Amino acid sequence: MMDALVVGGGPAGAAAAITLARAGASVTLVEREARAREKVCGEFLGPDAAQALARLGLSLADLGAAPIGRARLAAGPRDAGWNLPFQAWSIPRAPLDEALLSLASEAGATVLRGRAVAAAGRDGRGWMARLSDGGVLHAPALVLATGKHELRGHARPGRRGAVGLKLPLRLATPLEGAVLLLPFAGGYAGLQPRPDGGANLCAALWQAGDEARHPAALLARVSAGSALAASWLRGAEPAWPRPLTVARIPYGFLHRDGAAAEPGLYRVGDQFAVIPSLAGDGVAMALAGGEAAAQAILAGRSAPHFHAALGERLHRPMRWAGLIAYGLEAAPAALAFAAGLAPGLARLAASRTRLPGFTPA
Ligand SMILES: Cc1cc2nc3c(=O)[nH]c(=O)nc-3n(C[C@H](O)[C@H](O)[C@H](O)COP(=O)(O)OP(=O)(O)OC[C@H]3O[C@@H](n4cnc5c(N)ncnc54)[C@H](O)[C@@H]3O)c2cc1C
Repeated sequence: MMDALVVGGGPAGAAAAITLARAGASVTLVEREARAREKVCGEFLGPDAAQALARLGLSLADLGAAPIGRARLAAGPRDAGWNLPFQAWSIPRAPLDEALLSLASEAGATVLRGRAVAAAGRDGRGWMARLSDGGVLHAPALVLATGKHELRGHARPGRRGAVGLKLPLRLATPLEGAVLLLPFAGGYAGLQPRPDGGANLCAALWQAGDEARHPAALLARVSAGSALAASWLRGAEPAWPRPLTVARIPYGFLHRDGAAAEPGLYRVGDQFAVIPSLAGDGVAMALAGGEAAAQAILAGRSAPHFHAALGERLHRPMRWAGLIAYGLEAAPAALAFAAGLAPGLARLAASRTRLPGFTPA
C-alpha cells in the first residue's frame, strides 16, 4: 500500500507530492485534467510563492514569468501608485501547474492524469478512493487538494460566495511591470501584464450577469469603477470569446476541525483556506500548505495537529486581506486617497498579506 494519496494536482497537491516523493515516501497524485489548463486566477505571485517554488526547484524567471514592481489603486477619479516592497511576478497557471506536476513525476510520485477521484472514505486500512475509471486506491493518509471543487462527502461548509472571472486582453498600451487594483460597484478587479505582452483581467463580483458571458459587459463594469480603469481598458481586445468563470468562491473560509474531524485527511490549498483574491497569495498558501502537509505525514503528525499549525501560519495574511477587501467594498475612494497620501501604509499592507517568513528582496 502507498504511504499517501493526493487528490488534485494544482500547486497544493503538487507541492505535497513532490515533498513526499523526495523524502522517499510512496505517493500517488490523481489529477482529473489530462493537461494543465487556464484557471480563474490573477496570476500574481509574491515573494513567498517565489521562495516556495525555489525550495521545490522552480525559478519563476526561468519559467518566463513577467516581473512586477509597482501597484496602483484607483477609485472614481482618484488613483494612487506605490513601489511594492518586494519583487513580484506574473505567470499564467497552465505552465506553472504543468512544471509542478513534471517535478512531482521526476521526484518519483505516480501521477495519474485525466482521471478524477469520484469518492473517498475510510475502511479498515485507512482511506479508500474510487476513481472515475473504476480503479480503487488505498492509503493511510489522504491529501485533499481539489481547490475550488468539492469532493463528495468532504465538502467545505456553505455554498454561497463570490463569482470569479478571468479574461486575457490585448491592451492599446502594454502595462509595464505594474499591477492595477480596480474596485467597482459590487466587486473589484486586478489587471496585470502577462509574459506574452498581453494583460490578465481577473475580477471578483458578488453577483455576475452578462459579465460572465460577454467580455464587453465585463470591461464596461470594471471601467465604470474608475477613470484609470476606463483609460486602460479603452480599446482593449479580449483574447477569448467569453470570460472563464468560477462561482461560489467562499472568501474568508478557514478550515477548523470540529467534532467531525476526519483522521488521516489533510486539507491543503483552497480546501483549507480561501484568501480574498486581491491579496494574490492563494498560490503561495497552497504551496506552503502542500509542503507542510507532506512534512506532517512524514513526521507522523495527525491531521488536526497539522490543520491547527497551518491555520496559525495563515491567520495574518487572511486577516489583512479580509480587512483590505472590506475597505475596497465599503470605501474604495478613501482607501485610494489614503494610499496616495501614505504609500508606506500601502506597502505595509502588501507585506502583511504575505505568509510570514519570506525574505524581502
Ligand atoms: C478571481 C481569483 C483571482 C485569484 N488571483 C490569484 C492571484 O493573483 N495570485 C494567487 O496566488 N492566487 C490567486 N487566486 C487563488 C488561487 O487561484 C488559488 O488559491 C490556488 O489555485 C489554490 O491552489 P489549489 O492547489 O488549492 O487548487 P487548484 O489550483 O484549483 O487545483 C486543484 C486541482 O484539483 C483538481 N481536481 C479537482 N477535483 C478533483 C478530483 N475529484 N479528482 C482529481 N482532481 C481533482 C483540479 O482539476 C485542479 O487541477 C485567485 C483566485 C480567484 C478565484
